[in-house]
Amino acid sequence: MTKTYKHIETATIHAGKIKDEQFGSLTTPIYQTSTFVFDNAEQGGDRFAGEASGYIYSRLGNPTVRQLELKVAQLEGMEDAAATATGMGAVSAALLTNLSAGDHLIASKALYGCSYSLIRHQLTRFGIEVSFVDMTVNGAIENAIKANTKVIFAETPINPNLDVIDLDMLGNVANKHNLISIVDNTFLSPILQQPGKFGIDIVIHSATKYLNGHGDVVAGIVCSSQEMIEQIKLTVLKDIGATMSPHDAWLILRGLKTLAIRVKQHCKSAQIVAEYLQSHPKVKQVYYPGLEDHPGYPYMGTQMLGAGGVIGFEINGGIDDGKTMINATRLFSIAVSLGDAESLIQHPASMTHSPYSPEERQEAGISDGLIRIAVGLEHVDDIIADLDQALSRVPQLAKQIGVTNQKIADCA
Ligand code: PLP
Repeated sequence: MTKTYKHIETATIHAGKIKDEQFGSLTTPIYQTSTFVFDNAEQGGDRFAGEASGYIYSRLGNPTVRQLELKVAQLEGMEDAAATATGMGAVSAALLTNLSAGDHLIASKALYGCSYSLIRHQLTRFGIEVSFVDMTVNGAIENAIKANTKVIFAETPINPNLDVIDLDMLGNVANKHNLISIVDNTFLSPILQQPGKFGIDIVIHSATKYLNGHGDVVAGIVCSSQEMIEQIKLTVLKDIGATMSPHDAWLILRGLKTLAIRVKQHCKSAQIVAEYLQSHPKVKQVYYPGLEDHPGYPYMGTQMLGAGGVIGFEINGGIDDGKTMINATRLFSIAVSLGDAESLIQHPASMTHSPYSPEERQEAGISDGLIRIAVGLEHVDDIIADLDQALSRVPQLAKQIGVTNQKIADCA
């Protein structure tokens, strides 16, 4: 049992820490080892049989990874966690543990592209039935429930259109019908939203994003009850093998120490950027739950303590002008991912959400003209200045050189 902390800011730094009795290291040592030596054959056998505690082999568990699991579980207010090699490893482990052939899954119609692809193209190959529903519509989940429904899967705010799903409703529906609810909390992190508080059974993260926060790791984590985590680890994760490396766990432990201040700054800057975009004459539509006219705004302060650092927007003139604008940015990096110190800009229809067919994207409400930005930790004036120059130069450059997908070199 690890010590619990009243304030999440303190927990990001201290929770899960296992005291280094040997050398008194302040920070968590990296146990960079594939395997663990047993005192004798009997001890090895007992550990495999679950009759003695102790590590066996790093795919099954590792002390550095364990500290991360204990910390993130506490941040999410859940009993336990299982760290995974990637966010998709976390999504896969949660779904594969709870679904078998003949079961029915209800998934949000808009999801991160590879989560959609896993559900739509992989799970269905193994006899799992799937319904995609618009979970922002009242009663839509209950209408989709069948006798064989086992799991509800969603993310909120949704990547990339920033729709917000009512977690209280989701938790209640799942509870009422005895279904397992899974929510991807990547976009907000536990600093802003803890789905477990609304009765959600499993909370997952792409730890690649805000949890790590420095753009140098791909990783994931699943949080749930101790029983569920044991099941995930022992029945699927150890066999699929998508477990986290100790070095990645150490980097995320380091990143987590600043999670609270980073996330608060991301939110503060994103709000200013969203308002700037909303007032720009060349911007057609801005999707950010921190804006009063966003349908997710009523959930601010109740379900979510902030709107996060990701903004979606469309500019007047369509996809090609959008691409030209992306290419005209200088401070922004044209890259997928989010939650890093660097501001990132990308085009979901051709990048993160390309696993959707054009028809599926339309059905999911992911517009082809959508641009997604992840507001970084640079000074907000510099972020806005870059967007401003990119927006102002687009028509002129587009006219001069025609529509281009290349970085516009003379913007530098
Ligand atoms: N969930 C969400 C909401 C994401 O945005 C992503 C990746 O962008 C993932 C899951 C997958 O995470 P990873 O890239 O770490 O596998």
